Amino acid sequence: MGQLATFMISPTNRRVRRAVVWLLIFAFMFAGAAWIAAEQVAQSMRIELERSLVTYGALRANIVSIFDAMDAELTASPCSQPYLNAMRRIAYVPDGISELFYAPDGVIVCTANGGRVDTPLVLGPPDVAAGAFGIALWLDRSLTGLGLDGLTGTIARRNDFALAIPPQFLPAHTGPEWMQQELVYQVGSGFLHRAGAEGVYAAAIAAPAIVPLGIPSGILYQSACDPAGEHCVAAQAPLLPLATQRIAAIVLILSALSVLAAWLTQCACSVVERYWSFEARFLRRFNQNGLVCAYQPLLNLRSDTVTGCEVLARWRDVDGTIVMPDQFLPIVEKHNLTERFTAMLVATAYADLAALLPETQRLQLNFNIFPRDLDANRLIQVFAPFLAASSHFTPVVELVETAEVDLATAQMEIDALREAGIGVYIDDFGAGYSSMHNLASLVLDGVKLDRSFAMAADDSVMVRMLDHAIELVHATGRALVVEGVETRERLERLRAGGRVDFAQGYGIARPLTIEAFAAFLAEHGSRPNGQPRMVA
Ligand code: C2E
Ligand code: CA
Ligand code: CA
Repeated sequence: MGQLATFMISPTNRRVRRAVVWLLIFAFMFAGAAWIAAEQVAQSMRIELERSLVTYGALRANIVSIFDAMDAELTASPCSQPYLNAMRRIAYVPDGISELFYAPDGVIVCTANGGRVDTPLVLGPPDVAAGAFGIALWLDRSLTGLGLDGLTGTIARRNDFALAIPPQFLPAHTGPEWMQQELVYQVGSGFLHRAGAEGVYAAAIAAPAIVPLGIPSGILYQSACDPAGEHCVAAQAPLLPLATQRIAAIVLILSALSVLAAWLTQCACSVVERYWSFEARFLRRFNQNGLVCAYQPLLNLRSDTVTGCEVLARWRDVDGTIVMPDQFLPIVEKHNLTERFTAMLVATAYADLAALLPETQRLQLNFNIFPRDLDANRLIQVFAPFLAASSHFTPVVELVETAEVDLATAQMEIDALREAGIGVYIDDFGAGYSSMHNLASLVLDGVKLDRSFAMAADDSVMVRMLDHAIELVHATGRALVVEGVETRERLERLRAGGRVDFAQGYGIARPLTIEAFAAFLAEHGSRPNGQPRMVA
């Protein structure tokens, strides 16, 4: 899951992802098209084989009806003139068989066309013993001495009668030029090659029975037998020559498939990318497990110890990377999850702090709350664990002035929060919608000077304004936090000015994991003996 998730969400893998999906879809459709084409070819082969079998079926039916006719009509004394006349009449029927024999006990005594033979021909043991139709076969025998000198044929015998079958060829319609056929006779558990391309039948019965499985070998095979299982025909079709003959159509189909695959890739990827978008995966896993708190120390400049921290939200993504709040807070707001989010964050922080900080450690905890959630009753519930009499934490909510919420009308909520033991700070003062009027008129605990002041370059207007802003807030008597203190020089300057209560910034500590924060606090937090320590 981890690796798949990383692969799916990484923007750098986007092209690879699309290429893989295109390839899979194309391969799938290509395999489908190849299957259909192979089935078509196999179907044509089956039709050809059926036609071949019909020819052999008709030949056997002829032979059977000739033997039946001989049984019925050859009633005269064997080999007498009337007998031979009757035999000739039967032989004359245009069914491909024109020579009949009288062969009691396997010895040919007379023939329809030549009459009594000079030397009776002993047939000997047959090549194919009498089967379902009671017909035994002597394959490709010389007919010399039977009035057909120099010719060969297959002799079929039933009871006292026999006949000569001219040499077998595959039917005149040997099928299209792209396939080869072979005719075999089944003999016992084996078979005998009779006509066509030798080896085709053996290969066909060894080949996979399912058509698409034959595609990789490049040759398709089909076979079929007559209902008696005596004649079998097989066909083979090499695919490459077939494909080269139809190259133009194939190129056209492949181009169409690749365009279709591109379109399907586009559809599939947009569904998949929507599923794996940060917003979707954030919302899918919107629970306390994904939430991580970072703790940024607040250095108390009066005592030079760390007496508090700001709790900052982080999100652990499916691939384990830590996501910063600017990416997920807008989603939280968009989906009206702000209250639940703050409650989850407060609960996570409480679990972290209660587990890792000593109970003797008093600590101020600044939480950012969404301006729209400024509802004292609800916030008091959320912060309840921090408000218990035994709690050694002082929770503070940081509020940003926005167009959305007018802090002036919120004094009642602020009062209720303060009464319940929750401090209230104005955050990012001096940026956005900050109002001097609010600063003067609102009753609250502290002000955080926007970090752009302390972070400003040495010779900038902003940095000159830093002193004035400090002066301004100081005049209101509120606790003053200067954020964005990145250098030792800035920290010294704030310390020397004597008007700033807390400093916060990378120059003191970056937002830390709970473990790192606990360690930092052990070193820089207030000591029981009250000895201050220098930080930074
Ligand atoms: P903020 O409340 O002004 O938080 C201080 C931000 O400044 C933090 O960014 C912090 O990492 C950064 N910062 C601190 N010291 C320095 C410094 O010396 N230099 C610089 N360049 N940056 C510094 P972060 O954690 O990315 O948070 C950004 C904002 O996201 C926060 O600004 C706050 O408005 C919001 N936020 C963070 N956590 C939460 C939360 O749990 N709830 C709500 N509602 N908002 C939150
Ligand atoms: Ca803040
Ligand atoms: Ca701030």
